[in-house]
Amino acid sequence: MNDVLTFGETMIALRGSGPLKLGGSLDISIAGAESNVAIGLTRLGHPVRWAGAVGDDEAGQLVLRTLRAEGVDLGAATVDPGAPTGLMLFEPRLPDLTRVHYYRAGSAGSRLSPEAIERAFAAASPRLLHLTGITPALGPAPRAAADRALRLAREAGVQVCLDVNYRSRLWDSAVAGEVMRSWAPYVDVLIASDDELPLAAPASAGSELADQVKPLLDLGIREVVVKLGAGGARVHTATGELHRPARTVRVVDPVGAGDAFVAGYLSALLDDAELPARLDRAVTTGAFAVASHGDWEGAPTRAELPLLSAESGTVLR
Ligand code: ATP
Repeated sequence: MNDVLTFGETMIALRGSGPLKLGGSLDISIAGAESNVAIGLTRLGHPVRWAGAVGDDEAGQLVLRTLRAEGVDLGAATVDPGAPTGLMLFEPRLPDLTRVHYYRAGSAGSRLSPEAIERAFAAASPRLLHLTGITPALGPAPRAAADRALRLAREAGVQVCLDVNYRSRLWDSAVAGEVMRSWAPYVDVLIASDDELPLAAPASAGSELADQVKPLLDLGIREVVVKLGAGGARVHTATGELHRPARTVRVVDPVGAGDAFVAGYLSALLDDAELPARLDRAVTTGAFAVASHGDWEGAPTRAELPLLSAESGTVLR
């Protein structure tokens, strides 16, 4: 049985080294919030099933080959002959500013069907379903697929983690808020940046963080986890709150920190670790991500988790 079921769009990712309009060469990899989490969890030793869709093309083959090589279960993944795999271009424009360009409208990921998710559940119920707020922004089909997943999880007693992951380029915040609020009653673990929390909180909630967290906990969400970037993270529960500062690392690429953080948090949750240990693992995997190039490439294995505590300049022979 898989510990985790997740799905969403994974694209082919091309990375330049400067302004794209000047040409030059691009590195080729894959990227997708949910598959980043899947890889992070698999590296930490958890069996994970990814049930997304790719096109019947070479880009789709790269997505599947990479996930397979990482040990992610693809038994419920779909190859859609009627649409291409999505594409994203990373353009590091300034040392601390990267532009991302998406070519994903009409992609296979935007046509993921509720039936595919039913098949993914039918094989065996996972212990946990992980969704992000990106999937419903891709179109009516993936939104219906995610709605179906939430209902199936509820029926099967599967706990649900939702990372709000708001993408302003994909949809309007009012629509995103409507969907996130309709999902909130199904969620056990809600993960968001502090500026994303208002999207999930009831429209009547005040503007202070505490005003937004309380109604979410009252809805039955067990843990509200707030990512605070270089400020670390905080978890709120019905019995209180807990903060962990970020781990000190040299930042080389901030992309993917949120997904890596989620993988660490869920890994410790699946290990039945207490809240402090969940946050500790989450800030550790988040720090690995910012200290490594790429979205998921630097995700640690379980044995590598203590490496961040090594002295600067350490060489392991
Ligand atoms: P992204 O969308 O780029 O993946 P995010 O906004 O979802 O990121 P962040 O809050 O930026 O997520 O980062 C997630 C976690 O990663 C933070 O809670 C923190 O633990 C860790 N992290 C982020 N930035 C740093 C940093 N500069 N140094 C160390 N750890 C960091």
